[in-house]
Amino acid sequence: MTDSYGSINPDIQQTAEHPKCDTVRLVLFDIDGTLVSTGGAGMKAFGEAFEAAFGVGDVTGKIKFAGRTDYSLFREMCRYGGVDCNSETRESFFTHYLRLVDSHLKENTGGPFPGVVRMLDDLAAMPNAPILGLLTGNIREGARRKLSTYGLWDRFPFGGFSDDNEDRNLIAAAAKTKGGEYLECSLKGPEIVVVGDTPRDIECGRHIGALTLAVATGGATLEALQACEPDWSVPDLTHLSAAEICGR
Ligand SMILES: [Mg+2]
Repeated sequence: MTDSYGSINPDIQQTAEHPKCDTVRLVLFDIDGTLVSTGGAGMKAFGEAFEAAFGVGDVTGKIKFAGRTDYSLFREMCRYGGVDCNSETRESFFTHYLRLVDSHLKENTGGPFPGVVRMLDDLAAMPNAPILGLLTGNIREGARRKLSTYGLWDRFPFGGFSDDNEDRNLIAAAAKTKGGEYLECSLKGPEIVVVGDTPRDIECGRHIGALTLAVATGGATLEALQACEPDWSVPDLTHLSAAEICGR
């Protein structure tokens, strides 16, 4: 993969103002491990919020966070902690979570991964630029607080979140529908690229028929991601250009 625009076929650039049905119109980004590292703010806040809400500590030790959705994590913590998982306990938990994640984000130990900001800039500057959205297991308000910390929230006009569904595949379906509503059209799978750092991101992209781009900046090694056969797999986003992703 080249990191420059030099290899782009000029014929493809010429047709870019009249996108074919197989050109990319929507790029959906995962957050943790893909766009940013929060320095573990989310994980710390999860454990502390459970203890603050229900007085039960040490429930996160057995849980794998990478690629998970916030609602499914809460359900698993309830099982380990002996707490009823219902709308009331969930609301109580996430109220504490948002307060605590804010406090950890203020420690400011994280940031965007290499190539992320440039990729977002370059995608937005493409002729007939694809729209950018989120496809994340975060609840929407948690996503807003994390990305606002690093000045990235306003880059994404919509997204699929854990509030839409507990199952990441169905969050992907929600993000696809919202993208279609935003563009006022019915999006086909190959017009969408899903970018993420775990096998679960690749799986949910495939679930909606999208192209998949795996980045080894978070929850999985490059080898483990390659074994899932995404359309692209890179150590980080400096290894790929916006034009390559968009097929233009
Ligand atoms: Mg992730």
